[in-house]
Amino acid sequence: MTEPTATVGILGGGQLGRMLALAGVPLGIRCVVIEPTPGAPAGAVAEVLTASYDDQRALEQLARRCDVVTIEVEHVPIDSLAWLAARVPVHPSPEVVAVAQDRLAEKRRFVALGIETAPFAAPEELDAGYEAGTIVKRRTGGFDGRGQARLGPHASRSALAAAATSFGGRCVAEGVVSFDRELSVVAARGLDGTAACYPLVENRHRDGILRETVAPAPDASASMLAEGAAMVCRLADDLDLVGVLALELFQVGERLMANELAPRVHNSGHWTIEGAATSQFEQHLRAVTGLPLGEVGPIWPSAMVNVIGVEPEPARALSVPGAHLHRYGKAARPDRKIGHVTVTGRDERERDERLAAVRAIIG
Ligand code: ATP
Ligand code: MG
Repeated sequence: MTEPTATVGILGGGQLGRMLALAGVPLGIRCVVIEPTPGAPAGAVAEVLTASYDDQRALEQLARRCDVVTIEVEHVPIDSLAWLAARVPVHPSPEVVAVAQDRLAEKRRFVALGIETAPFAAPEELDAGYEAGTIVKRRTGGFDGRGQARLGPHASRSALAAAATSFGGRCVAEGVVSFDRELSVVAARGLDGTAACYPLVENRHRDGILRETVAPAPDASASMLAEGAAMVCRLADDLDLVGVLALELFQVGERLMANELAPRVHNSGHWTIEGAATSQFEQHLRAVTGLPLGEVGPIWPSAMVNVIGVEPEPARALSVPGAHLHRYGKAARPDRKIGHVTVTGRDERERDERLAAVRAIIG
């Protein structure tokens, strides 16, 4: 058997870890994963050490066997990452992950870089909530809109405090942004600081969960596309990040406001598997192993629909021309992301027709 190109350790063995490991196969990159939940998605394509993220024996194995360690989820103990980083390169660095874990630190970083974001404060610092309404969010650990409470205009101090207490205290209060739509931008930055950025995409959420991504974002002006790329690259440079970085945005008129960042492959980048010359997963592996980044284009007009809660009949999903089905091997449960379907088209009209057909099947 030939030597692997590199062995990459991944903290997290969910669908993102699975798609990362899968992208490594043609490159000869082998992945070893630490994942606490038995039977996790990455098991189909990677070696999984079933252990908690602070299990000393599992961390020792990763440090001994891997050329580099990365993450597929930012909610991992910083102590574990720091322990690994003293022994093996870790990308993104523990410092970057610490920023991404804490919504308050994240927003302060946006402000420091001159990147516009919703007004925010620690709830206890406010005499009253914001005029447009307030969203109280847990500083750490929230995802898919969980750990958030929405309050009406000018919420009282006691209402803010009650919302914060319901999430255990450490929260950030944000003004509600009446955005025109939600966008995101995904970029990769290599060990040498070179970056490759995918175009802005449009994200459609329901109940705080991403339902659809349309790529590139329809009707995005050239200046907005440039601004999105500039924002994510500025952040990646400032954080000295190696790997993929996703930035979630709100569009208000022609302005872009940052919502949150994720220093990892992102749900709104799944379309790149079929829609871009190099997928975000391959790009991330190339970046963290010090290989040259791939070209992002040509880009096909694409759309991705998350499969949430209920699996479609595979043959039905694939009956739509241009459709690709990704099943994560997860048990179906309400509000759980268990797969996605991507469609591409020769032009936006064809893509939109196919997206409508997929939506009708997946619901
Ligand atoms: P995910 O992990 O799925 O990205 P999350 O739980 O980390 O989500 P956010 O991205 O902060 O949380 O919020 C989820 C959704 O709630 C956003 O995509 C947006 O639709 C809405 N939302 C969040 N913050 C605001 C805001 N300040 N104003 C208006 N809507 C907001
Ligand atoms: Mg989000």
